[in-house]
Amino acid sequence: MSEIISPNMLKTFELCPKKYFFRYKKSLSVPVNNEIFKTGKNIHALASYYLKKENIDNLEPALNPKEKEIWNYLKNTKYFSYETVHTEYNLAVKIGKHFFGGRLDALVKDGEKYYILDYKTGSAPKNSKYDFQTMIYMLAVRAFFKTDNISFVYIDLKNRAEIVIDLTKDLALEYENKLSEITKEINKGIYPAKHTNCKTCEYRIICYDKVD
Ligand code: SF4
Repeated sequence: MSEIISPNMLKTFELCPKKYFFRYKKSLSVPVNNEIFKTGKNIHALASYYLKKENIDNLEPALNPKEKEIWNYLKNTKYFSYETVHTEYNLAVKIGKHFFGGRLDALVKDGEKYYILDYKTGSAPKNSKYDFQTMIYMLAVRAFFKTDNISFVYIDLKNRAEIVIDLTKDLALEYENKLSEITKEINKGIYPAKHTNCKTCEYRIICYDKVD
């Protein structure tokens, strides 16, 4: 594996190695076209302009009523009043022989403390502390900015809630170990079916291992 490993790649492998095989080894992608996805794109774009202090006067009126409600909640969170370090920011970190990375929604700063922001138009991950996105982005910001003074903030726009995970040295070590373990599994090159979500899996039409 020589590419940058993304949180989505690891999530897919954990969910079903066979699905990982279809998506990342065979490059079979399935278009996503739903309302949550469209709303998410609009809110992410607007948030990025806003944090970069660009003029959004012409963009806000284009939001539909539901998007407006979400946007008003998001821009009034305390994190949007902090100093913007980056938005829509690609970052990677090397752990062992592999690079892990992805694109942060936003990185803001309050004094010496960094906050990685992630807006979710669906719900936040169930186990946010050990979500691959949390692990990779925390370690990447830690390596780049040379500090442990970092929190990951999931802003759950569906339930209007914020989930905050604070980094510690021990947690960083635990994250590194977890990422190394799963890449060892992926590198074995075996992709068994796991049947975690066959009913809703986008590859069920072509997958002979699916269960109904
Ligand atoms: S249909 Fe089931 S077994 Fe096949 S890739 Fe999807 S989740 Fe895995």
